[in-house]
Amino acid sequence: MHHILEPGPLLAEWCAEHGQPAWRARAIRRWLHGGRAESFADMSDLPRGLRADLAAAFTVWSTTVARHHRTEDGTEKLLLQLADGERIECVLLRDGQRRTVCISTQVGCAMGCVFCASGLDGVIRNLSAGEILEQVLRLARLLPGDERLSHVVVMGMGEPLANLDRLLPALAAVQEADGPGISARRITVSTVGLPKAIDRLTAANPGYHLAVSLHAPDDQLRTRLVPVNAAIGLADVMAAADRYWEASGRRLTYEYVLLGGINDSPRQARDLVTVLAGRAALVNVIPYNAVAGLPWKEPTTAAREGFLATLRDAGVNVQVRRRKGARIDAACGQLRRAAAGADSAEPSAASTIVHTIQPTSSTAASTAPRMPPSHPIQ
Ligand code: SF4
Repeated sequence: MHHILEPGPLLAEWCAEHGQPAWRARAIRRWLHGGRAESFADMSDLPRGLRADLAAAFTVWSTTVARHHRTEDGTEKLLLQLADGERIECVLLRDGQRRTVCISTQVGCAMGCVFCASGLDGVIRNLSAGEILEQVLRLARLLPGDERLSHVVVMGMGEPLANLDRLLPALAAVQEADGPGISARRITVSTVGLPKAIDRLTAANPGYHLAVSLHAPDDQLRTRLVPVNAAIGLADVMAAADRYWEASGRRLTYEYVLLGGINDSPRQARDLVTVLAGRAALVNVIPYNAVAGLPWKEPTTAAREGFLATLRDAGVNVQVRRRKGARIDAACGQLRRAAAGADSAEPSAASTIVHTIQPTSSTAASTAPRMPPSHPIQ
């Protein structure tokens, strides 16, 4: 049984083999990607026999919804069970007129960021392009009929650029006019900064917004917080980011989770200013929310405000992200771990900030674009 959401020529080839006109594959995709069909039976303009043949050859959904949580602020999170039993998370965020989905690219993550739930068990496997696309389509179906998705942020579980071969075709499908129809400018890809992969993305020139997770202004601290940095180094990350900026013309966002007493000092703020000097950058500062059992603390108000003031006084564009959906463990990896552990019905109030999927109440510099809940989307 093939997954029909898997991008590629398989459906067109199947239609040709079954004597169907070439446009039939496009019509079927239109039902699935843009029409919100749940099954082949919903495709009312298809001959009944064809619907049965399709159902015998293809499955529409490769996942099942293990959990579906919603908060009063409209944030909805799905815990999806994959065909092999693994679980991933994806989130729908409502912010004014924006309808943003945050999607995962891997089961787990190999990057090992110390404050992130997704990386605690390492990476298990890459998601297929169809599994990535399926998250978008499932979340789109949570919206009422008169609403459409407006933005996609790729900053759920996993390092997106470690699965670029599958991510790119999935995001191409997201842009199709017959599907979600979300333009490249409204798609944000987040990365810890893998220079070779950033260069591949630069060469592909897809026009996506790139967000680089820094979290520290120097190699020593960054390697402590983002262990993969030991094999890369901040200078190479910034150089690759600059090449993306030069090729795309799009200002990059730099993510900075503010950990109390760790990376929130005035000196570190000044060092960050130095790192970003001469660059068109927006800094997303994400004050950490303490989680029981983890050693990291929230920054004090004084430390946070001092850090922000140093950046702003130096002319750096800054945005502070406040959490949304914390009650449903909206940070990536939280719900999956909670389900694997307790499998209790109630979501935990605690959550760890990870790749940043929490939106809203932001205090943005006047020059900054309006941001989605978690990342900058233009
Ligand atoms: S923050 Fe992102 S890159 Fe780091 S471990 Fe978590 S999912 Fe991976």
